[in-house]
Amino acid sequence: MTQLPIRKDLVGKSPYGAPQIAVPVRLNTNENPFGPSPELVAELAKAISEIGPKLNRYPDRDANALRADLAKYLNAESQVSLAAENIWPANGSNEVMQQLLQLFGGPDKSLVAFDPTYSMYEDYCRNTFTKYLSVARNEDFTIDKSVLDSALALQPDIIVLTSPNNPTGTIIDMSDIDYLLANFAGVLVIDEAYAEFRPAGTPSAVSRLAKNPRLVVVRTMSKAFSYAGARVGYAAASPEIVQAIQLVRLPYHLSTVTQAVARVALQFSDELQGQVTLLRRERDDLESWLKDQGFEVAPSGANFLLFGAFGDRNEVWEQLVEHGVLIRQTGPSGWLRVSIGTPEENQAFKTALLQVTNRTNGK
Ligand SMILES: *Cc1c(COP(=O)(O)O)cnc(C)c1O
Repeated sequence: MTQLPIRKDLVGKSPYGAPQIAVPVRLNTNENPFGPSPELVAELAKAISEIGPKLNRYPDRDANALRADLAKYLNAESQVSLAAENIWPANGSNEVMQQLLQLFGGPDKSLVAFDPTYSMYEDYCRNTFTKYLSVARNEDFTIDKSVLDSALALQPDIIVLTSPNNPTGTIIDMSDIDYLLANFAGVLVIDEAYAEFRPAGTPSAVSRLAKNPRLVVVRTMSKAFSYAGARVGYAAASPEIVQAIQLVRLPYHLSTVTQAVARVALQFSDELQGQVTLLRRERDDLESWLKDQGFEVAPSGANFLLFGAFGDRNEVWEQLVEHGVLIRQTGPSGWLRVSIGTPEENQAFKTALLQVTNRTNGK
């Protein structure tokens, strides 16, 4: 291949992405397995026919109506009282994170994350010339004060905590978040992409926003809302942070179509909550089943499970693909991650896994 004159630090790098393989059972990217309902789809059609004639105009640059709807949703979901000025939406929480790094990162800044975690944080740092640092979680993927102290000792400008964490599913205790809020003067980002799947009664970090102007909680409609294809994520933060993000956002970054389809889904949040409840139950059932088969499973508050440990996880992964089941090779070596699917998909996964690992279900 001819050498393009690209940035030195990008030479030889591969783009992020799980393999998109066309198999019957795809449990590899933590999507919600249930598509939007016919009622929701009918409302989408209506919304699109309303905005269609106005697409010659740029979108509402500030996405005011959507921000108000998202605030209303979060207020009900996490018993807080946020307003539109606390919310910043973009094309997936990935774009929100990149904007945060463009704003708070940069050549003289650093970010700390807690390994193993979402691999994109390192990419956002690379893309914004921010120094990426990481601190290891405990053996069982939890975080405690001593792990947090190691992070603080690095004197970062930004700390990112993912809760529930991807790929381990681990929930961070609110007392640990409070510890950072009390002891860290930089920007604390809590990535709550999977927050809706947390066990009932677990508080969200949005409950800490009122008193902490340097806290940012990032959420997405990609997982619980069955809306990965719509590309909508958002930050909840102080009005000061929300205003500052606008320094780095692209003009009219969120299309009229995206804003409208996001608002339609938010009208259906109660219906979607029903699916979340079912997926949580399926997750807990699958966790018990995997343990019964003798696998190790990380306790998960998300819509996926990390399990292992395999001598050759690539072999297991490949054979599962041959059985028509796609999961994900990610996280610590020897472990695999499976997203929670429909009850039928989860059954197909169990059957295939037993065949692949030569275990019988007779114990
Ligand atoms: C899936 C995921 C996201 C969501 O990304 P979107 O851009 O909103 O689709 C964010 N953070 C983590 C840790 C994730 O696993």
